[in-house]
Order: sequence, then C-alpha cells, then structure tokens
Amino acid sequence: MTAAVEFQNVSRHFGPPSAPVRAVDGVDLTIAEGSFFAMLGPSGSGKTTCLRLISGFEKPTGGTIRIFGQDVSDIPPNRRNVNTVFQDYALFPHMNVRDNVGYGLMVKGIDRRTRERRAEEMLSLVKLEGYGDRKPAQLSGGQRQRVALARALVNEPKVLLLDEPLGALDLKLREAMQDELKALQTRLGITFVFVTHDQGEALSMADSLAVFNEGKIAQIGTPAEVYARPSTRFVADFVGSSNVLSPEVTRAFGGPQKWSSLRPEALRLTPADGVALAGTVTSIRYLGAGSRISVMLHGTEVAALLPAGQPLPEPGTTVGLSFDPAALHVMDQV
Ligand code: ATP
Repeated sequence: MTAAVEFQNVSRHFGPPSAPVRAVDGVDLTIAEGSFFAMLGPSGSGKTTCLRLISGFEKPTGGTIRIFGQDVSDIPPNRRNVNTVFQDYALFPHMNVRDNVGYGLMVKGIDRRTRERRAEEMLSLVKLEGYGDRKPAQLSGGQRQRVALARALVNEPKVLLLDEPLGALDLKLREAMQDELKALQTRLGITFVFVTHDQGEALSMADSLAVFNEGKIAQIGTPAEVYARPSTRFVADFVGSSNVLSPEVTRAFGGPQKWSSLRPEALRLTPADGVALAGTVTSIRYLGAGSRISVMLHGTEVAALLPAGQPLPEPGTTVGLSFDPAALHVMDQV
C-alpha cells in the first residue's frame, strides 16, 4: 500500500511556548493512496489545522509530514500537488464560472483555449455543462459547491482536501452531494481527505476515518470498526451517541466489570415482569423513522432506539430491556 499522506508525531502549537494552544498535538496517521479519508471531531479539535498542514498553509511545530513518500517540510503549497475545497467555496465573484474553474491553469500560464476546454470538461464532470457564462451569484448553493470542486479538480491534484464542503447546504442537497462526491472519488481514484463534524457524513462516505479530540487522534479505523468498537468514551459518545456504561452498571447487565458501550439500536423493549433489566421510562423522543426512549436503569439513563410502528410505553412506566450480549463492547480506555 502506498501512503498518500503520512504524519509522524506532528504537532502545531500556537501562541507563546509558556502557554501554547495545542491545535494539533503529536498526531500519527497514514492515509492510503486512492482512499476516502475523513477527519471527524468537534469544533476546535484540530481538523482544519491538520488539513492546512497537508496543504502547506501551516507549518508544523514538530514532526514530519510526507506526501507520497516525500518529506514536504521545505515544499511550498503550490508545489505539493494538493488542492483544497473550502467550506465557503472562495469563488471569485467578478469572474464567470468558466474563468473561476480555469483560474489555477491561468496561474500556471496555460493558454486561454486550453484553459477553457479543460474548464468545460471539469464542468461536465460535476454536471454543470452550460453554466460557464454565469457568475457565482447566479448559482444555487449546491451549484457553487460543484464549481469549487471543479476548480480544485482542474489542477489534477493527487490529494484533494475538503474542509466541511457540504456545511452550507440543506439536508436534502447535502445527502445528494454526499453520494455524488463519493461516486466522483471512486471514479477518479484521487485521495480525498474530508473534514467534517458530522458523524453520519463521515461514517457513510469514508473508507477510513480519524476521530479527533483536543488536537489528538482518539481513534482511527474503518467506519464499521470505529462505530462498533469505540476505543474511548469520547469516541463512543461522539460517533453515534452510544450508551456509555460504568463498570457497576455493566456488571448489573451481566457483563464484565469494565467501562462499556452499548448502541441504542441494540436494546429492545420487553415486558418488565421478572426481567433483571427493568427501569422507568423518563422520556420519549419521536424521530420520524423511529423513537428514542430513555430509561433510568441502576441510576444510569440508557437510550433505546425503537423502530417505527412499535407500541410505545408512557413516560413513568416500568419497562424491561434486553440485548444480545455480543453487542456490549468493552472499551480499552475510559
Ligand atoms: P472547526 O470544526 O470549528 O473548524 P477544527 O477541528 O477544524 O474546528 P482547528 O481550526 O484546527 O479546529 O483549531 C484547533 C484549535 O487551534 C482551536 O482551539 C483554535 O482556536 C486554535 N487555532 C487555530 N488556528 C489558530 C491560530 N492561527 N492562532 C491561534 N490558535 C489557533
């Protein structure tokens, strides 16, 4: 496997050494060539700084970054064969769509005819044929997003960095663009590094993902691994709002006396009589495709996700809960 991007103990601290902001703190990661890699984490966890370190707009305070095996410490951004799609798209408002897309080629001194032909090819790739003469202000949010994508792809980068590129779109469009981006990445075979704080987006699109917390990687793996086997409470909580159970509660559940996670969808309601796991319903939230029920069990509030169509208990009533023991995941760390 060739690594498109490698971080070895990379840090980026800001501010005075006496009181540094550790935006990125000792990160190790390997992004495989041709993969769709997501950086997932809450606001301020260091994702954008990592992206800027790859693009070269930011220099590490420590550690080594390699792009296709080459140490890029002394390579400026324009010689890294990496392009970025920004959340706000950063299109030039006075230029039409064709010139926006061809901009990178103009900077490289490529002639107008070739530029326009390549820009039209890119517009067709992102399904915007015939939009070349419009100004960005005459496009919808989703169309602007596609122009930004075309403008980055025209440079034929080996790595495409995407910083929350779908953040400004409404839910429906966002979902449609998720499918399109994934299909485009598969077709072009370019390495995509995608920053998001939306776990659903990361889980559905990525081949592998890194979960960031306070400048460090809390876990790295395939979406299925990270979702099913979160290594810490933070990951369990952030990637799909799991039930995090203390050793005492896990033991009461019949498991080992260790911190564990249990996904809400793994829990089923049963009649309360004679069941070890019985508790009081504290709240019910209707979610459309199902309902999320909170039950107070051994002093811990546990959430169960029930499919639609099932009769729902009233708040305040006692219910039983059951689950397949294999669904209980013991975490390595707290
Ligand atoms: P978001 O999802 O909100 O974009 P993020 O995970 O991308 O967040 P970063 O933008 O990488 O987070 O920021 C990480 C931390 O570094 C934050 O605490 C931020 O305030 C700090 N930071 C980033 N850039 C600078 C800077 N130029 N000077 C000082 N602190 C900075």
